[in-house]
Amino acid sequence: MPPPVFRFAPSPNGFLHLGHARSALLNFDLARQSGGRMLLRVEDIDAMRCRPEYEQAIYEDLAWLGISWEEPVRRQSEHLALYREAVERLSRDGLLYPAFESRTEIARMVEEKERSGAWPRDPDGAPFYPGIGRHLAEVERAQRLRAGAPYALRLDMAAAAARARTLTWTEQGAGPDGETGDVLARPEQWGDVILARKDTPTSYHLAVAIDDALQGVTHVVRGQDLFWATGVHRLLQELLGLPQPVYRHHALVLDDAGQKLSKSTRSTALRDLRASGATPAEVRRLVGINPS
Ligand code: GLU
Repeated sequence: MPPPVFRFAPSPNGFLHLGHARSALLNFDLARQSGGRMLLRVEDIDAMRCRPEYEQAIYEDLAWLGISWEEPVRRQSEHLALYREAVERLSRDGLLYPAFESRTEIARMVEEKERSGAWPRDPDGAPFYPGIGRHLAEVERAQRLRAGAPYALRLDMAAAAARARTLTWTEQGAGPDGETGDVLARPEQWGDVILARKDTPTSYHLAVAIDDALQGVTHVVRGQDLFWATGVHRLLQELLGLPQPVYRHHALVLDDAGQKLSKSTRSTALRDLRASGATPAEVRRLVGINPS
C-alpha cells in the first residue's frame, strides 16, 4: 500500500492564525502517525489579494510550529494552463456558460427577487446567481464575447448534476451538524458556482479538485467551514474523472465572541503570538492538538 498523502493548503492573503495552526498540525501529526507524506500547497490564485510576504510568513510560521513538508511546494499560480485545460473540457461538455452581469448588477437583481419572496442562498450565505447567462441566445453570447465583455464562467449545476450519479464522500471528522461517515454530496446547494473568470482561469473549487488529484492526496483534512464545499469538489472529481480522497473536517477555532477567526484578527496571528513570547507547545495547547 502506498503511504497516505496529507496536505495543508493555505492562501497567502494574510498571516496564518490559530485556525490554520489547528489544520496544519492535524495534517502533520496524522501524516507522521500513519507513516504518510505531508505536502504544502500555496493557493495563490487570487493575484489581487495574495502577497509574497504572506507566502514567506507561511513557511516561517509553519517551521516555527515544528512542521516540515516535502519540497517542492506546489504553487497554484504556476499551473494556470492546467486549470484552463479543465475549464475547456467542461466547456466542451456543455457544462459551463459565461455570465456577464457585474457583482453590483447581481446584487441589485437579488434585491429585486427578494422583494417578492425568499431567494435561495448557498451554505456560505451568498445568493444564487439570478442572471440570464444560462438562457442567453448563442448569437448574443458570441457577440458579447467578441466585444471583450468581462464574464464569469459558471457551472450549469442542473446539467452537471444530471450527468453525475448520486455522490457521497467518506467523512472521518464531522460536519457542522455532526454529519459523519458516508455523507451525501449536495452540490446543488451552491447553485451555478463560478469555476473561472475571463482573466482568472480557475476558482478555488476547481483548483482544489485538480490539485488534490494531481498530488495524489488521499486525505483532505481542513476546517469545517469547507464541509459543504466538498459536494462541489466531489462533483468536479466525477465530471473530470479524478479520484476521491477521504475527508476529515475539524471544528473551527473561534474567538472570544464565538466567531470564526479571520486573517485580520491580529491577536490570534501566529507571528504575533510568537512575538509576544508564546511557544509552539502553547499554540498546540491553545488549538487542542496534543504533541504526537
Ligand atoms: N486555501 C483554502 C483556505 O485557505 C483551503 C483549501 C482546502 O483546504 O481545501 O481556506
